[in-house]
Amino acid sequence: MHELGIVFYIIRDVKKVAEENHVEQISTVVMDIGEVSTVVPHLLTDCWRWAADKEEMLKGCELKVNTIPAVTWCDDCHTQYETIKFGKTCPNCHSENTWLLRGNEVEIREIRVAT
Ligand SMILES: [Zn+2]
Repeated sequence: MHELGIVFYIIRDVKKVAEENHVEQISTVVMDIGEVSTVVPHLLTDCWRWAADKEEMLKGCELKVNTIPAVTWCDDCHTQYETIKFGKTCPNCHSENTWLLRGNEVEIREIRVAT
C-alpha cells in the first residue's frame, strides 16, 4: 500500500502551502498522475479519503486525479510513441534505445481553497 505513503506526502505539502498562504480550509487537490507511474488512482483516492478526513483543514477535501499519458522517445529514429502500447521497443524501428518522455509523474497540480 504505498499509495498511503504518497497520500501522507501530499497532505504534508498541501498543509505547508496552506499555512504559508494563511488558508484555513482546502476544498480540492488536483494531482498529475502519469500512466506508468506506480500509483493506482483509485487506491490513491481511497487512502486520501481516509487520511484527509483526519486533518481539520482537509475534512471533505476532494482529491482529483489528472492522468498524464505516457510517451516514449526513440533515440535512433527520433520519433515518439505511446508507452502503454509498445513498452520499451520502438514500433517504428524496433530499437530499444528509448526513454520515457513523460508519464511517470506524481505531482500536485493544483490546490483549491474553500470559499
Ligand atoms: Zn525508433
